[in-house]
Amino acid sequence: MGDELQDELEVTLGFVEHVNVSISPRPLNEWESRVIERLLSTRFAGWGLWRAQLPYIRVVRTCSDCPSSEFSVDPGAPRILEPTGRPAVGVAPASIEGVDEDGTEYEVLLHVRAGLITELDVYRTDSRGFVVWPAAESGHVHDISERVRMAPS
Ligand SMILES: [Zn+2]
Repeated sequence: MGDELQDELEVTLGFVEHVNVSISPRPLNEWESRVIERLLSTRFAGWGLWRAQLPYIRVVRTCSDCPSSEFSVDPGAPRILEPTGRPAVGVAPASIEGVDEDGTEYEVLLHVRAGLITELDVYRTDSRGFVVWPAAESGHVHDISERVRMAPS
């Protein structure tokens, strides 16, 4: 497909790229801090380790089409461990689920890799850009420990 045709389709269908762009590393902003705090408001197994890592997070990449952001964690930070003792991989066992202005559902997940928090993932279920970026207090926190446990690792 030619670039022009592809550009035209993206405009017509409203698809967005969701390309995360590098930024000058910064601490979590107020929105990110509050959303993560809500995600970690459920006391799941290993909860304390997730909380302990928060001060070591720096935001290094953000998306222009959604509030998602990627992190770098100071190497001195305590690792998040699975109950087995291995560094955690996957997502925190809590999500925020809400509805955008046009009725499309969105979800917020916190990703972890090698025991380090890597990304705050905010996405509409149809992958399009948000009509209105969700407020930090929007949506409901869900325990997704069953879903996380069933996911292949
Ligand atoms: Zn995005």
